[in-house]
Amino acid sequence: MTANPLLADWTTPFELPPFSDIDPEHFEEAFVTAMAEARAESDAIADQLAEPTFENTIVALEGSGKRLTKVARTFFNLSSANTNEALQAIERDVAPKLAKHSSDMLLNEKLYARIAALWDQRNSLGLNSEDSKVLERYHKMFQRAGAGLDETGKSRMADISQRLATLGTQFSQNILKDESDYQLVLETEEDRAGLPDFLLTAAAEAAKERGVDGKHVITLSRSSIEPFLQFSTNRSLREEAFRAWSARGERDGKTNNRDIIAETLALRAEKADLLGFDSFAAFKLDDSMAKKPDNVRELLTRVWEPAVAQAREEQAKLAEMAAETGENHPIEAWDWRYYSEKVRKAEHDLDETELKPYLQLDNMIAAAFETATRLFGLTFKELDGLPVYHPDVRAFEVLDRSGKHVGLFLGDYFARPSKRSGAWMSAFRSQHKIDGEISPIIVNVMNFSKGAPGEATLLTFDDARTLFHEFGHALHGLLSDVTYPMISGTSVVRDFVELPSQLYEHWLSEPEVLSKFATHYKTGDAMPPELLEKLLAATNFNQGFATVEYTSSALIDLELHLLEDPGDLDIATFEKTELDKIGMPAAITMRHRIPHFQHVFSGDAYSAGYYSYMWSEVMDADAFGAFEEAGDIFDPEAAERLLTHIYSAGGHPDPAETYKAFRGRAPEIDALLKKRGFAA
Ligand SMILES: [Zn+2]
Repeated sequence: MTANPLLADWTTPFELPPFSDIDPEHFEEAFVTAMAEARAESDAIADQLAEPTFENTIVALEGSGKRLTKVARTFFNLSSANTNEALQAIERDVAPKLAKHSSDMLLNEKLYARIAALWDQRNSLGLNSEDSKVLERYHKMFQRAGAGLDETGKSRMADISQRLATLGTQFSQNILKDESDYQLVLETEEDRAGLPDFLLTAAAEAAKERGVDGKHVITLSRSSIEPFLQFSTNRSLREEAFRAWSARGERDGKTNNRDIIAETLALRAEKADLLGFDSFAAFKLDDSMAKKPDNVRELLTRVWEPAVAQAREEQAKLAEMAAETGENHPIEAWDWRYYSEKVRKAEHDLDETELKPYLQLDNMIAAAFETATRLFGLTFKELDGLPVYHPDVRAFEVLDRSGKHVGLFLGDYFARPSKRSGAWMSAFRSQHKIDGEISPIIVNVMNFSKGAPGEATLLTFDDARTLFHEFGHALHGLLSDVTYPMISGTSVVRDFVELPSQLYEHWLSEPEVLSKFATHYKTGDAMPPELLEKLLAATNFNQGFATVEYTSSALIDLELHLLEDPGDLDIATFEKTELDKIGMPAAITMRHRIPHFQHVFSGDAYSAGYYSYMWSEVMDADAFGAFEEAGDIFDPEAAERLLTHIYSAGGHPDPAETYKAFRGRAPEIDALLKKRGFAA
């Protein structure tokens, strides 16, 4: 028996990774062993003498490399949510090795010949529709990796993949370093002017976490910096904090991402060229619902125009508000949230400090759970004492209507310096049935500011929306009901994957849900109906800003990846020129500026793909109508169709077809414009 817990059988409850026994150095040996094992398995499939069959090739591949999958999922979940220097060093070392491992398999001639032969005979193999889909995915995956190229092309593709893996890792680590290095310590009363209690409490907690106990610290985590920008009356500190936030990945020194980005873009363009595409965007979109860059641009432009118009009106109101309070400076990026909060109060009589006591983290988790109970019959049982990877992580067993085990859900809610910023869903294990019924282990990771010890953690409404969003992804993983890992859960095309998550956000904004779960953290009273009404009436407030912030990032992502020859691109100049071209309002900054655009440069999941949120929104805005038209936001029939065609279907059906099967027709973009408060 081996002493390495990663390589031993996992005897933990639910076969969770044995977190408490794992030391970073265990990963080094585990990766070497697991890669060798996976390699031997795929070689055996490639080298067998038997004629290719679906069973001996595709099913065999689906069953290979299991140990590597377990080790890699454990590692990358930890390196995102709870990293340290040792894990980061291993990540830098292992990322290109994993890329090479993967290239070796995808560029294996014999393996590709077997898959191509099956693909040619696909209509006579007697495959069911799920089998066919998996064969199609394999064929596409090999082709897109360069399996059809000559030897020179293949070897260049392998080098490019390895180098991109290194660059993506370095990019992320640079951002994390910039984020964890920065802190704004609020020393004086003047520094803290205007800050509400909830933010001061969170800032005191952050100070403790960062070893400056007794002080108040603002960090670059969204739930710390955003409320600071909203409330701080100290304009120069707002500017200082905003500039630091906005300059992540762009500061001089070791963590500057400029060269990493230029090289990444050049390599991506070269890869697309090798594969016969005009640009990396064309290559990426070839495997998506949108299909072509023009289709993406058309959608984004359609939203961009009314969004900018609205943002300009919003800005005029902010300037008016500033003038009323005797401030005659122009509205800058660090002023927007501050005056916007004041305008919201004036127009809707709504302020965040009044709202926040009603939005307790625990209750919002309960609301997300109950929504899943009412829609899909799921129940959630919290389990104490499971060996999780950090004391803040909570574990819930998920059961179906009949009490049968569905999976395990982990919730990791609080910001800490060891955690990448943002919010995401991931899987320690995905659902499949090739070895009997394998149930999923899904995690949601957030970056909420933790409440004081013994006190409730309070969220903003945006935080609560993020929680529902990620939980929608979690359900997509948990409810998955397919045979093959290849198409399990969220393994769908990128511009479809945000549908289950964004659709889920709709239930949060329903009075039926909010009035029950939005209760005051001290008195336990339900949110007064007037406040609830004001909250819902203000849903579209500042939507011009939010849409401009997002859409500009999506457009820049597209333009970056349309470059046929990025060469030595000067990122700063490119960003400025492109933003000028589209008429970006100067007082708004992209939601993700290029130097810290993690969606696009931490790996290539969302590269030429940040538009996906908007593409999915065309569907989610329209999809919720199925419940509204039924007159019941938990309508059982609509919920059943939603489960069958979307949440449990994984990547099995064609996305456009499955949407139609759920809704009875294709989505209409008007619903999106209306949802954002723009005239259709
Ligand atoms: Zn999402």
